[in-house]
Amino acid sequence: MDAVELLQRLVRIPSPNPPGDTVAVADFVAERMRAIGCEVRQPAPARKPQARNTIATLGVGEPRVMLHAHIDTVPIAATEAQKWSVDPYAGEVREGALYGKGSIDDKAVLAAMMRVMMAAARQEELAGSIVLVAAAEEEVGGQLGTKWLADNGHLPVCDFIVVGEQTGNKVATAHKGVLRATVRTTGKSVHATNPDRGVNAILAMSKIIAALDRYHHDLSRLIHPVVGVPTCNIGMIAGGSTANAVPDACAIQLDRRMIPGEKPEDVVGELRAVVESLHLAPATASIGDFVYSRWFDSPLNTDHARRFMDCARRRLNDDPGPVGYLPGSDAKHLMDLARGDMIIFGPGSYEVAHAADEHVRLEDYALTTDILLDFARETLFAD
Ligand SMILES: [Zn+2]
Repeated sequence: MDAVELLQRLVRIPSPNPPGDTVAVADFVAERMRAIGCEVRQPAPARKPQARNTIATLGVGEPRVMLHAHIDTVPIAATEAQKWSVDPYAGEVREGALYGKGSIDDKAVLAAMMRVMMAAARQEELAGSIVLVAAAEEEVGGQLGTKWLADNGHLPVCDFIVVGEQTGNKVATAHKGVLRATVRTTGKSVHATNPDRGVNAILAMSKIIAALDRYHHDLSRLIHPVVGVPTCNIGMIAGGSTANAVPDACAIQLDRRMIPGEKPEDVVGELRAVVESLHLAPATASIGDFVYSRWFDSPLNTDHARRFMDCARRRLNDDPGPVGYLPGSDAKHLMDLARGDMIIFGPGSYEVAHAADEHVRLEDYALTTDILLDFARETLFAD
């Protein structure tokens, strides 16, 4: 099976999430990896047994390298379906690109990683071990995918981890974390003929909104060399029920992007301080419903990282980065398993990833494979 055929086979196995049934694609990876002599395990959480993962290992001991890619894709939205000019699950090749849902996100880099495993299997002996993780559930946050695998001891501590996502074959070493929160104001409802007798929860919220906007601008004082500045966006508002009454409740939802180094508990404290510093009485305000996902950051100062950068620089004939990766990834769930560096790396752009006519340029896919192969060869291959 050549490189293009392998990727076509993966694209032809739909794995949209939701619903997140990855059994068929996980089994395809497992079967190929067993055939070349890998030790293969396929754990799945009891809460969602159809979210099947495949973990394939070659060699023993250290250095241990992990190649991680997710096997679920986003679903095809009803509004998106007519925009496709090809069958999204056919894996059609046209003008040097392979089209299909999941082609770039994340099956191209998965196929490249499988090809590295195949090359490693042809070695008589490896100077260490290599682990391929084909993970479910990334598109819905990874709680029952990579986080579950990591928390339940299914993944080993590694000296170098490559998380496959779309970085244009550059080396990404950081992404932001996200903290979501809801702010609520409470007032007193009266008829709109005499609003001064009531307490307007929307007016109270407007002061909070203005303060949060100032806070957002103040955050630009902090800057991370790779991912830039932290931000605070107010993305949703709800309040009142009719124009002829004073509203007694208003709520906003906000999205606070954290740069590496920011602690969620500190950010919660900052947000509380913004809300509590305002004089809103007799209206009251509260902030809560905090949910967060971690940032990821890697110092890129190990020998493995330097070697990977060299491999990328040679093949790209260009500066390999480091760059930031704007969307989140499963890297955040692997931080405790990374004894050395961890990078995000793969072909194409995430902007092509969740859109109609998703595709990967075959030359980018080949470049990804070559860089990963060079790295594996210099790190683990004896010859
Ligand atoms: Zn992805």
